Amino acid sequence: MRNKLTIYNTRSRKKELFIPLHAPHVGMYVCGPTVYGDAHLGHARPAITFDLLFRYLTHLGYKVRYVRNITDVGHLEHDADEGEDKIAKKARLEQLEPMEVVQHYLIRYHQAMDALNVLPPSIEPHASGHIIEQIELVKEILDNGYAYVSNGSVYFDVPKYNKDHHYGILSGRNLDETINTTRALDGQEEKHNPVDFALWKHAQPEHIMHWPSPWGEGFPGWHCECTAMGRKYLGARFDIHGGGMDLLFPHHECEIAQAVAAQGDEMVHYWMHNNMITINGQKMGKSYHNFINLDEFFNGTHPLLEQAYDPMTIRFFILQAHYRSTVDFSNEALQAAEKGLQRMTEAVDNLERIIPSAASSVDVKSLREKCYEAMDDDLNSPIVISHLFDGARMINNIAAGNATISQEDLDELKGTYRLFLYDILGLKKNTGSDEHRETAYHKAVDLLLELRMKAKNEKDWATSDKIRNALVEAGFEIKDTKDGVTWRLNQ
Ligand code: ZN
Repeated sequence: MRNKLTIYNTRSRKKELFIPLHAPHVGMYVCGPTVYGDAHLGHARPAITFDLLFRYLTHLGYKVRYVRNITDVGHLEHDADEGEDKIAKKARLEQLEPMEVVQHYLIRYHQAMDALNVLPPSIEPHASGHIIEQIELVKEILDNGYAYVSNGSVYFDVPKYNKDHHYGILSGRNLDETINTTRALDGQEEKHNPVDFALWKHAQPEHIMHWPSPWGEGFPGWHCECTAMGRKYLGARFDIHGGGMDLLFPHHECEIAQAVAAQGDEMVHYWMHNNMITINGQKMGKSYHNFINLDEFFNGTHPLLEQAYDPMTIRFFILQAHYRSTVDFSNEALQAAEKGLQRMTEAVDNLERIIPSAASSVDVKSLREKCYEAMDDDLNSPIVISHLFDGARMINNIAAGNATISQEDLDELKGTYRLFLYDILGLKKNTGSDEHRETAYHKAVDLLLELRMKAKNEKDWATSDKIRNALVEAGFEIKDTKDGVTWRLNQ
């Protein structure tokens, strides 16, 4: 098995050779969406980044168990643990059951991921389905003395933990800094210190999602779910934990603290974070009116968009940046990506038309190795794409008759594009809509029958029979009537 993959570990702040704890098995956990609204661009980037990693690890021969959770309880509006639950609020406003909200947006999320050719994870656990595991985790932390009960809620004692360990090890913050930047919100009198975070929240009477616990009716704090579900499905120590950079603090910092407080050591070997997306140079945010849903990209219905963009254009555009760089979306940049992807697929189509020569005048063997090297260098997808563009120019040269290629090299080239463009980068040919295909196929059959009629009129029986026989063989039923020819495809 090829083992040259290096990944940037946010925890150690350097690139490290990826060595799984229990090869060939790899455990990978990625924070999934809080499902209370339509999937937007912010959801696409982590999904595509870790899909790329999932695909590559699988290609390298690892057996990857990829867990991506669904947050359907406990994610509160302010700093994640104050204010109203995001899903409960949506349910209240829309007069729905919270699980109706979850189901509705989860289906839409899956549809958007499907369109982006993001493979489904191996396990997609819901936070609300793992309340028992989260209560267990809270109990362990309490037993080890790193949490306290206050008015039916349980809080993580950050200053106490920081005396024995380092709270801020992932984000590089120190506690004094964190204390200075933490706002004390109303209703936080329960906390001994504003930096403490909720492990379990007491449910107020109006709160619709709550469960019994040793501390009374309540619901888990947001950070608990990933620690509890990661441990349940991947074990007390697993390989990779990923997510967007916006989750680094406090979410992932809290996850580390919870794991250490519960089991004495860290759970995760490699932490990976994708960078953020901006739109026309601006941060994405409700107040900027630039929250563009993925559906709006696919249909071109958002006022900021000049046209609709195919899901593959969005995927290609995201992969044209390294996952640790920011990506700025604009119509101009997306249109350039659309053209680029078109150039690439045209070249790949040209591969099918090339007639091999006895010998090659081009070097195709180095392309595959260069692509591997770029992937091994912390998933450097923009470099992979630039190598594939170099290859595309070479293909076009051969197709134009300016260079030659042997059969063996042609097969190698086809295999390299299949592997990197389709299997690993996860791009697929734009096959258009069903309606588009239907129209195209009708036009093609009509044209053939028109040519047959012309041949018949010219008494060219050989050609007219040839067309008819070929269509019948392909499963069409053709009837000559006095009003003309009718046809249908036999089922
Ligand atoms: Zn998480």
